[in-house]
Amino acid sequence: MKQVPMVDLVGQYKKIKPEVDEAIEKILSTAGFIGGPYVKSFQENLEKYLGIKHVIPCANGTDALQVAMMALNLQPGDEVITTTFTFIATAEVIALLRLTPVLVDVEKDTYNIDIKALEKAITPRTKAIVPVHLFGQSAKMEEIMAIANKHNLYVIEDNAQAIGADYMFSNGKVKKTGTIGHIGCTSFFPSKNLGCYGDGGAIFTDDDVLANQMRIIVNHGMATRYYHDFVGVNSRLDAIQAAVLDIKLKHLDSYAEARRYVANYYNNAFSKTEKIITPITSPFTTHIFHQYVMVLNGVDRDGLMNHLQTKGISCAIYYPVPIHQQKAYLDPRYKDGDFPVSEYLCKNVIALPVHTEFDEETLEYVTSSVLEFIEK
Ligand SMILES: *Cc1c(COP(=O)(O)O)cnc(C)c1O
Repeated sequence: MKQVPMVDLVGQYKKIKPEVDEAIEKILSTAGFIGGPYVKSFQENLEKYLGIKHVIPCANGTDALQVAMMALNLQPGDEVITTTFTFIATAEVIALLRLTPVLVDVEKDTYNIDIKALEKAITPRTKAIVPVHLFGQSAKMEEIMAIANKHNLYVIEDNAQAIGADYMFSNGKVKKTGTIGHIGCTSFFPSKNLGCYGDGGAIFTDDDVLANQMRIIVNHGMATRYYHDFVGVNSRLDAIQAAVLDIKLKHLDSYAEARRYVANYYNNAFSKTEKIITPITSPFTTHIFHQYVMVLNGVDRDGLMNHLQTKGISCAIYYPVPIHQQKAYLDPRYKDGDFPVSEYLCKNVIALPVHTEFDEETLEYVTSSVLEFIEK
């Protein structure tokens, strides 16, 4: 039977194999595993690609968020606002640093932070906002920056799912997501749009002082060797991952194009049924479709998932439980029903496979298999 995985990293690797293998062999033969020219080259190329002054590579996207919050010198009790409909890492680092996560709902059509809810959640203790560019398109950054400026707050963009997306300002200016707030964070987890072959992450900023502080924090709080002025962490991107990323960065825009092709195919195929609400792309952003997440309207989700499974088609739920209903994050401030949109989405979303290696026949197989169940 035909198998359709959520991602096809092997197929993608085969196309860049000679270049990747050569770089990895070179690292193996010189044992230059930590730091060195590959990390530097990738850092500089990513700075150029994003149009940002500083990229600080680190070990993963979760560390990127944590280091960003450490650099802003946030203190226990400081409130950090993010959404309840996101991957756990966003809220996790807030909790880990003993800051207070303040959760808000998302918009029903973009799955991104609801601006009105965000403004309502601000208190005198609020210090930062963490918008998540969920599934590959930008949150309303212009509005978010205006709110942040009005209330003197930091903005840390969680760009783990949107690297390469463009944000169009109302004056026509275009910036990459992750370069608009004070700090941007990303993940190079293998299945991310720019993924390495292990774990990796990076932090972006145009601010020289913050950049310097974050470079010190990722290196054990050390500016001069064995002199530790701050409590830091050990968070590095290794040379092999950097070499892979430097090669894949050259293809990032064409990878996004391939993903958009898949998304458009799905959108067209499902446009005739009211039982599927296909994802929209806001006019102020490009969408790089880290995930293709659609909302089912009166469809038995478990039934559809089983049906797809019998056809060899993978699918997933991003995300089944909002943060405020997660066991580790239960909080007397929040109760069921407080975030109706997120709760509704958790019950009704389904993600179909989207990656860079699709062919027409497979797309037709996926869409007809979905429609077969929906229309029966
Ligand atoms: C993947 C992801 C992260 C964390 O990245 P890791 O590299 O896995 O630590 C953070 N936020 C979001 C929204 C993500 O999707």
